[in-house]
Amino acid sequence: MAQLSDDCFAHGGRLMTTAEALTHLTGRVSRVTADEAMPLTEALGRILAEDLVAPDDVPPHDNSAVDGYAVTFDDLDPEADARLPVRGRAAAGHPLVGPAARGTAVRIFTGAPMPEGPDTVMMQEDCRLDGGQVVIPPGIRRGANRRAKGEDIRAGTRVLARGRRLRAQDLGQAAAIGRTTVAVSRPLRVALFSTGDELREPGTPLDAGCIYDSNRFTISALLQGLGCRVADLGILRDEADTIHDALADAAEGHDLIVTSGGVSVGEEDHVRQAVEALGRIHFWRLAIKPGRPIALGQVGRVPLVGLPGNPVAVVVTFVNLVRPMILSLMGGTELMPHHFRVRAAFDHKKKKDRREWVRARLEADSEGDWQAIKFPREGAGILSSLVESDGLVELPEEMTYLEAGTLVDFLPFSEVCT
Ligand code: AMP
Ligand code: MG
Repeated sequence: MAQLSDDCFAHGGRLMTTAEALTHLTGRVSRVTADEAMPLTEALGRILAEDLVAPDDVPPHDNSAVDGYAVTFDDLDPEADARLPVRGRAAAGHPLVGPAARGTAVRIFTGAPMPEGPDTVMMQEDCRLDGGQVVIPPGIRRGANRRAKGEDIRAGTRVLARGRRLRAQDLGQAAAIGRTTVAVSRPLRVALFSTGDELREPGTPLDAGCIYDSNRFTISALLQGLGCRVADLGILRDEADTIHDALADAAEGHDLIVTSGGVSVGEEDHVRQAVEALGRIHFWRLAIKPGRPIALGQVGRVPLVGLPGNPVAVVVTFVNLVRPMILSLMGGTELMPHHFRVRAAFDHKKKKDRREWVRARLEADSEGDWQAIKFPREGAGILSSLVESDGLVELPEEMTYLEAGTLVDFLPFSEVCT
């Protein structure tokens, strides 16, 4: 069960900065502790719950990096062609039996263990065969084309640290040290709701004044991308009683509740009323654009995040605030995505003391460097702006005017929306 420290979410009336919000969200919620053993084939994207240490050297033996001939360097002539008889063969998985005699060459293939004796491998393209002999031109370096035992990983090295989110190559790495399973944090069980009388389920008729619920699909996918197990609990009407009962039920068997809508300033505060009766809730007015209000609360002991209703605000607050919180709850250590510096291809006026995210697509400039082209419409309800963009340009609090040509931080959706 995730737990919040006391008053973690309390905050005075002033606007809260993103950094403050992140400190609260990631520093003061304790991680869901249970781990489970997962076969490597099912561990992609999961958070490692143990340190992985190599029991042995990788590779376990010196081996050849090329197809060719294994020779003893001192048998070669630094000035002229050397001619050596070819004796024996070593292929990957089939080592030469016994040592190689001095003054001979062993036919060898990539990945084959180095025979005992030879220290150097001649690439087959660089020599020629003449009868039973291989003719080796001068100029090769001692030890060339030989891969050393343990050159990838030394026995005893920690190859992956607890808290890492496992990528494809990490799973390969675990296999390379002989593992079949790894301990990972069990998935966070997240209950997800949309709130709003105007929302309709896609596939059903759209009544007058209504729209289809899109947030639930976006948020569910974002959560699943983080390895959460999502319980999609549908749309809640704007009625305190309905919300109250649904949230009370959802608190059973989930580690986190996520809602969208119903937390705007001026909204009839149904989410607030319901959560207040069940635990507590705090509305944070964040110094950000888009997506200013988010609600943090607790239903019994289960934390609740109330995201804004506007689809763009949903994504911006999720990727910048909720994502690090969720990774932290699952024991992740790399919480923040990578930003990349690109050149802004637009001017932009902004308010001081608030962080803004501008939707943009990337285009190569005449030098081949990335430039960020701002999406022409700014509304927080324009979901297609996210579809048409490659990511978010992040503009810091202190900035008041962005001049085209300035280097800015860019958060690609490929880092966070997969
Ligand atoms: P609210 O925060 O509930 O005031 O909603 C702000 C705006 O977001 C309104 O225009 C809502 O219709 C819209 N909205 C709220 N929830 C959703 C949703 N699940 N899908 C799409 N739009 C939504
Ligand atoms: Mg609403």
